[in-house]
Amino acid sequence: MGLLERTAPSTTGAVAASSQWPRIVIVGAGFGGLAAATHLGRVDAELTVVDRRNHHLFQPLLYQVATAALSPADIAAPIRGILGRQANTRVLLGAVTGVDIAGRAVLVGDRRVPYDQLVIATGARDSYFGHDEWKAATLDLKTIEDATAMRRRILLAFERAEDSEDEAERRRLLTFVVIGGGPTGVELAGALAELARAALARDFRRIDPTTARIVLVEAGPRLLASFPESLSAVAARALRRLGVELRLGIGVTECDADGATLGHERIESRTLIWAAGVAASPAATWLGVTPGRGGRVPVGRDLSLPGHPEIFVIGDTAEIVGSPLPGVAPVAKQQGAYVARVIAARRAGRLAPGPFRYRDYGNLATIGRKEAVVDFGWLRLTGRIAWLVWSVAHIYYLIGFRNRMAIAVDWLWSYLTYGRGARLITGPDQ
Ligand SMILES: Cc1cc2nc3c(=O)[nH]c(=O)nc-3n(C[C@H](O)[C@H](O)[C@H](O)COP(=O)(O)OP(=O)(O)OC[C@H]3O[C@@H](n4cnc5c(N)ncnc54)[C@H](O)[C@@H]3O)c2cc1C
Repeated sequence: MGLLERTAPSTTGAVAASSQWPRIVIVGAGFGGLAAATHLGRVDAELTVVDRRNHHLFQPLLYQVATAALSPADIAAPIRGILGRQANTRVLLGAVTGVDIAGRAVLVGDRRVPYDQLVIATGARDSYFGHDEWKAATLDLKTIEDATAMRRRILLAFERAEDSEDEAERRRLLTFVVIGGGPTGVELAGALAELARAALARDFRRIDPTTARIVLVEAGPRLLASFPESLSAVAARALRRLGVELRLGIGVTECDADGATLGHERIESRTLIWAAGVAASPAATWLGVTPGRGGRVPVGRDLSLPGHPEIFVIGDTAEIVGSPLPGVAPVAKQQGAYVARVIAARRAGRLAPGPFRYRDYGNLATIGRKEAVVDFGWLRLTGRIAWLVWSVAHIYYLIGFRNRMAIAVDWLWSYLTYGRGARLITGPDQ
């Protein structure tokens, strides 16, 4: 029997006789797609979840893998493992390359996956503001592979500096430029500073890792633009205390293998980290629509594609016309749960819920292992208490009990000892 024939799985997981269950296809098992899939777990429908990776990734903690504080498996979990108990759900590993809207099928290479209702939740990718050539000169952070590649480059820079006879090259190797002062850039810069000043401090003989230069560049006038100004100022002070140099109000004008240029200033560096811009996945092209802000697919207030009530687009890939939302995990999760409710209501012949409404529970960012800023709107927290709130929130939202326990133990260990449990250089031999 073909994988995608119309059959209803029994509750034991075995495939039952053919049925008239509608086919729901979810593309992407990130925050949005997974929320939709888990909320549809009990609906009488054939659910197919397609992802090009076999794991769900908790992106907010990628920077901790990149800076050798956590291991990849701490922040990722197999999609099959997460959805394995849902008898109505199949998981398909493959990269979607298009959608045949008229034929109601998702294209996965030369395979066609038919659908009656489709949810697209394929997230975002990096954007270089029209300078795609900068991609080759910078490191970005979207996937586990990106994080381990960044960890490798950072740790290798210290190794090569230890081995270098050339003072200028040594300085270049020990200079790290983080481009983008949003939460990812702030968190990366803070973690890098701690890696250099504390965790690696005694590991080398010829170089002093504590002299490493970490420069954070933000084109806007302040860090963490989505936070209140007072919290941006707290974050800036905390980073300066960690020895991070800030360049605010100036954008990069050049990135190459030897460093970055910011207007008239040249910073020689072997490690440029890109945390500045994202664009939506190419779903707008698949659907043949004119993309909105950041390449997003314009959708209505019920998150469906105008004129196509059978197609929903959610999370970082979607933009509600007239009501843009930030590209954050809670938006994607709430939208995933919402479209599941719409689909379930249609299936049950009930009235669909009203338009999607985002509940903003607050904004969090951490700076190293002692500081964080938390903005709940009605309450703002800084310092250690904010760090605790941030830690509990992130552990709570991690998928799977094992991950939560592993990360709690790793963090506690790292906190008490300044240790770096995952300080491994992986990849080809040197
Ligand atoms: C480094 C980093 C740090 C972040 N920190 C935070 C934070 O602290 N707090 C916060 O709220 N948000 C944070 N975000 C943003 C947050 O991760 C996103 O807003 C959220 O993941 C969006 O969810 P999504 O479901 O739209 O997409 P994603 O979670 O990105 O999921 C997209 C899924 O689609 C799959 N996919 C993509 N293309 C294809 C294809 N062609 N075929 C098949 N599958 C495909 C991907 O493999 C992935 O599994 C961070 C993001 C990054 C990159």
